[in-house]
Amino acid sequence: MNLSHILNHLGEEREKYYNAVSPPVIQSSNFIFDTVADLRRMITDEIGEHIYTRGNNPTVQILRKKMAALESAEDALIFSSGAGAIAMAVLGNVKSGDHVVCVKSAYGWTQKLLTKFLTRFGVSHTFVDGKRVENIRAAIKPETTVLFLESPTSMTFELQDLTACTRLAKQHKITTIIDNSYASPIYQRPIELGIDIVVHSGTKYLNGHSDVVVGTLCSSKTMIEKLFHSELMTLGGIIAPHDAALVIRGLRTLPLRMQRSHESAMHIVQQLKGHPKVNKINYPFLPEHPQYELAKQQMSGAGGLFSVLLKTDSISKIEELCDGLTYFMMAVSWGGHESLVMPICAFYNVEGRENSPLPWNLVRFYVGLEDANCLWKDLERGLEKL
Ligand SMILES: *Cc1c(COP(=O)(O)O)cnc(C)c1O
Repeated sequence: MNLSHILNHLGEEREKYYNAVSPPVIQSSNFIFDTVADLRRMITDEIGEHIYTRGNNPTVQILRKKMAALESAEDALIFSSGAGAIAMAVLGNVKSGDHVVCVKSAYGWTQKLLTKFLTRFGVSHTFVDGKRVENIRAAIKPETTVLFLESPTSMTFELQDLTACTRLAKQHKITTIIDNSYASPIYQRPIELGIDIVVHSGTKYLNGHSDVVVGTLCSSKTMIEKLFHSELMTLGGIIAPHDAALVIRGLRTLPLRMQRSHESAMHIVQQLKGHPKVNKINYPFLPEHPQYELAKQQMSGAGGLFSVLLKTDSISKIEELCDGLTYFMMAVSWGGHESLVMPICAFYNVEGRENSPLPWNLVRFYVGLEDANCLWKDLERGLEKL
């Protein structure tokens, strides 16, 4: 993979737009034809030509080409959210009566797609602890058509052995889908390990500036064509050209941002190690992580996201810590320039809702692009409140 070429040149046809360095935002729903013969010819290739922006758009197409290359895939589709990309990947590969095996700590809305949505259409599911491939094997039924993976998961950072999973799935003719948002294609390329479909919440690292909600889906040409003509064209959850241009801009610095977040997270995690107020750190690139060897094998870095089990006896002390932080702002999501904190205790004692299944003393941190020392000082001061 020639990253520099992909991020700076691939898919860009500058001679078509005055040799502008940045691609134009082709903010047009429609494209015109001179003759009936032209229109007739174009209509057979809606996925590659430009007819109508619900199908393909020149700005979006640049992003499609870059994403496909980043994931070592033949082609890619771009959706208006990560949840949209996940839903399209699954919907395109199930029919009534089919069964999906999914890792049990997958992203919340992925779980809801299976539990609240697909059950209405006669698609069943089993959630498994994906740390051991035997658990996945045991959950497979004759009617299983999809294995949904998320490695590492985005709160507790558990991994699945991707090579073992793809080998197993191929034996049973099951389509494998992975949510690769945590590692990004910079640190993990699942298609090279045999995975069929890679989806991303591009809202996180890919765009990287907390100003676009976007989803990407990378796969073989055959799979992309199938999903294009059914899920994308009928459900229509497409990205706007302007947002696509922002994501292209975000991708230019993806490797730099990943490296910076990874290095700063490592620095902070090292300081947290052995801290009297910290019970456990969940970060795949710490040698203490129970799947460290596997992480080193299938990922080349871990990025800026980790979680910590704090040593304290009360939720109010965690609230005090989080409320008092300056550089770690409190929010959901991650992957932007700004560092964030998300305490699980916020999902406890909410009226009309069950408490989170995760421990109340778990706090997730995202390390962005700020100075690592400033971030650590902020956190160190906060920990004194426990
Ligand atoms: C945020 C997130 C999603 C959903 O993506 P959206 O872009 O918010 O729709 C899916 N998976 C993971 C791991 C996420 O963090």
